[in-house]
Amino acid sequence: MRKKIVAANWKMNLNLIEGADLINEIYKGLPELNESNEVVIAPPFLHIPQTVTQLANMEYVFPGAQNCHHEAAGAYTGEVSASMLNNAEVKYVIIGHSERRQYFGEDDAMLAKKTNQVLANNMQVIFCCGEPLEVREQGGQNDYVEAQLKAGLFHLSEAHIKNVVIAYEPIWAIGTGLTASSAQAQTMHQHIRAVVAEQYGAAVAAEITILYGGSCKPGNAAELFSCEDVDGGLIGGAALNADDFLAIVSAMINS
Ligand code: PEP
Repeated sequence: MRKKIVAANWKMNLNLIEGADLINEIYKGLPELNESNEVVIAPPFLHIPQTVTQLANMEYVFPGAQNCHHEAAGAYTGEVSASMLNNAEVKYVIIGHSERRQYFGEDDAMLAKKTNQVLANNMQVIFCCGEPLEVREQGGQNDYVEAQLKAGLFHLSEAHIKNVVIAYEPIWAIGTGLTASSAQAQTMHQHIRAVVAEQYGAAVAAEITILYGGSCKPGNAAELFSCEDVDGGLIGGAALNADDFLAIVSAMINS
């Protein structure tokens, strides 16, 4: 059975004290998780050692990172490598978030290299894809997302793709309060699974976890997660509030 995941992307929010407090609040209200229902928390890099320590006693809650550099090591001032993250006990790395693509110029070739770095360092990738509004308005979203997957992921072996989680995040829904309807999410997730099946076969596609991201909140999580091909969510704004995040985690468990 494929895994369901709710992953928190804190982006560039919270200082160390605020981050520690938020995890303490989550700990107090966390429902029982298991190997099929996981939680990931991806704070800013600076928080990672503290977050790893805090999560050590929380079963099936794993530390994540929001990015890593595409080279293994070297003269890249200000950057963090995948091997550093692995050494710090990070389990998941978000790659290709639309904010990284848009504000930091990360293109498909760079994202493919980042994906390789994460996998070579024994962590799992949360690979983000999703179309801008103008593409959706012209009905080109399926081709757009398919091209992102092919360019960023489809060089991987079958063994490696099994360590990838795909997050469909329509750009027009991220941080905007606009959410894809459950029908729009399901249609795209089904398409993504079909594209993975074409490349890797039906068995691999059936096992791959596909998250939805984009203004997911307590009020819409249950409906989104009830879709057959939606296996949880990548959560931005609502992950900064313990009650909201816990409600979304409960929606995953009950879906
Ligand atoms: C995100 O940044 O991955 C995200 C989904 O943000 P939000 O939930 O705030 O739309």
